[in-house]
Amino acid sequence: MMTSYKIALLPGDGIGPECMDATRIVLDAMVKAIDGLDLTFTSHHAGAQLYRETGETLPAAVLEDCLAADAVLLSAIGLPDVRSPDGTEVQPTMMVGLRRALKVHSAIRPVKLYPNAPCVLKDTGPGIDFIVIRENLEGLFASFGGGSRVADEVVTDTMVITRKGTSQVSDFAFRLAQRRNGRPSDGKKMVTCVDKANVFRSMAFFRDVFMDVAEKYPDIDSNAVYVDAMSLYMVQNPWDFDVLVMENQFGDILSDLGAGLVGGLGLGPSAEIGEEHGLFQPSHGTAPQLAGKNVANPLATILSASMMLDWLGDKHDNKICLDAAVTLENAVAKLLEQGEVRTPDIGGSSSTTDVANSVAKLVLESL
Ligand code: ATP
Ligand code: MG
Repeated sequence: MMTSYKIALLPGDGIGPECMDATRIVLDAMVKAIDGLDLTFTSHHAGAQLYRETGETLPAAVLEDCLAADAVLLSAIGLPDVRSPDGTEVQPTMMVGLRRALKVHSAIRPVKLYPNAPCVLKDTGPGIDFIVIRENLEGLFASFGGGSRVADEVVTDTMVITRKGTSQVSDFAFRLAQRRNGRPSDGKKMVTCVDKANVFRSMAFFRDVFMDVAEKYPDIDSNAVYVDAMSLYMVQNPWDFDVLVMENQFGDILSDLGAGLVGGLGLGPSAEIGEEHGLFQPSHGTAPQLAGKNVANPLATILSASMMLDWLGDKHDNKICLDAAVTLENAVAKLLEQGEVRTPDIGGSSSTTDVANSVAKLVLESL
């Protein structure tokens, strides 16, 4: 089977372009070496630097290409000193716009501890391997660009929870759990709703809708945990969790906590998925102080590319892509396990390019 997929690349700002170049080194090597893996790339300027030059973050033609592509791979967007006329950073506006245009309703952040990756926990039990799924289009972030301010004294934002949005993200969580191996402690497949149902009506509704969806998946365990308790459990017994699903802002916060548990932002990939489109990006930002020095960790972007291959493979029932995703993730795991080539953020002294070349080499050796 030979199927070609069109990938739109948005390298962005700060360390974004370096991480993207590194990822291209690996993907180009894979396309060359793996029979039937055919990806074509178009790279576009978008983000804060572009805004500085042209007054636009995401030109219409770029958005059009993202909508026409089979997947979008984005590195990092935003620069603290580039601001729109109202004084806010341009990054959230661009990202919220892109998410809304692509209708990517579910954001996935894997929290997975690879062998020999730095971990702040002394006891890692039977291992850490869970997924944070964040509702990506509503919740408190629906208030973005809105909110109200009364006489410079009182400000309110609005939390929006809909049955449709909550069903979609819950359903997505259960379908993902079906494809996984369950929680590390006993292999049980389990989806946990994380909320604050005891305090907020919106959250009680989120839980109710989640429970309705859970009934459709009798083969998968489900439970619900308050978000404050979940912050504790993530640190105390993270191995008891498989898939977590939650409102947008809770997911924003807990996914960074998750990244912190398993090696930091330089190792955290993410995927944002809708019915049609997929957007993949590292969970870190543009780290401007590291830009241009060839020291940024490219593994989060490389792992995001692995998630992209997995999603393409699952969506199009393409075994070559599914296998390529596993090959790529295994190469990253092996690099971390060997521990010789790593960037300074995770305790090494290698360059971004060294890491990319080493991952590419490990991929080729494993084929
Ligand atoms: P943003 O607002 O864009 O999210 P931020 O201020 O939250 O930006 P990040 O860029 O997300 O900052 O990263 C925070 C810090 O973590 C960086 O300043 C940098 O020290 C470190 N960091 C993040 N990503 C990487 C990476 N890929 N490699 C090395 N260090 C990183
Ligand atoms: Mg950040």
